[in-house]
Amino acid sequence: PYAAIGVEVNVDYITAVAVDLKGEELLNWRRSFPGSTSSAGQAIAAVAAIARRVVSRMSKEARQVLGLTVAVPGLVDVQGAVRIAPNLGWHDVDLCGDLAKALRDPGFPVMVDNDANLGALAERRFGPHGNVDDLVYITGEVGVGAGVIMDGRLRRGGRGYTGEIGHIQIDPLGPDCRCGRRGCIEATAGIGAVLARTAPDASPADLELEIDEVVQRARGGDREVLDLLAEVGANLGKGLAVVANLVNPEVIVLGGYYVPLAPWLLAPAEEEMFRRAIAPGGGGCRLEVSTLGYGAAALGAAARVLDSVDSGRLPAPA
Ligand code: BGC
Ligand code: ZN
Repeated sequence: PYAAIGVEVNVDYITAVAVDLKGEELLNWRRSFPGSTSSAGQAIAAVAAIARRVVSRMSKEARQVLGLTVAVPGLVDVQGAVRIAPNLGWHDVDLCGDLAKALRDPGFPVMVDNDANLGALAERRFGPHGNVDDLVYITGEVGVGAGVIMDGRLRRGGRGYTGEIGHIQIDPLGPDCRCGRRGCIEATAGIGAVLARTAPDASPADLELEIDEVVQRARGGDREVLDLLAEVGANLGKGLAVVANLVNPEVIVLGGYYVPLAPWLLAPAEEEMFRRAIAPGGGGCRLEVSTLGYGAAALGAAARVLDSVDSGRLPAPA
């Protein structure tokens, strides 16, 4: 039997999944990780450590590993180097090369891809959108990014940087963004924009916990939090209107930390998107919430391995 491995490193956690050829989940691990305060070297060591554990588990189960993809919250070029990961503070990190070295010639291909791209692949392979050919997946982390599927294919663009909606400016006087600009969508509609107001001193590895606090307060009818989420939802909607105008997707799927917050974000986001998009009804675009939970990017990373096998870019298992 075979296994495809996906690992995601993000601002506050590392997730690892392994799936078999049919896409059945063999394992799903998540641990907190202070990505924003760690060096790239530390992050690579942590990713390599978790990857080694997954590989050894797979070999105990007598499974052959077909490949490993790592999802990162940043711009990944076609060689698998991370050009910019604003919320990790990375510039020009040869993740693919360094990881292959750290894993000492693992005997299977190692790939690197953007988290939102992989989220989009996961939606198609594992989510309910297998036959939607025009889909945009939005990852709601500290950063905000989009994976764009048009005409049934993930679109990468000239260098591989398609879908950087998090850094579209929607407010010239807005808050500073980790990319060095200001008023970007992620600075006004990312999870950081929520936590900056509810938990300004939160440790970067505790975001999941802090989001849960926000959910509890919203459920309890806390006015301040409800107003904040309505504002963040509307800011997100401004970004979604840009997506609707540019891509005309059939579905936009909200993922990551937008999932637990969706009950409060969805309505204001949708209203703002429909109001701002030029085509009637947002061009027929439906706004949905991911059913894949926090693991979407890691699942998509494993999906990329399976996709490579399907398309003959990796040798088909005997
Ligand atoms: C990065 C994107 C990434 C997104 C979500 C943004 O800050 O620029 O590449 O997809 O965060 O993690
Ligand atoms: Zn920015």
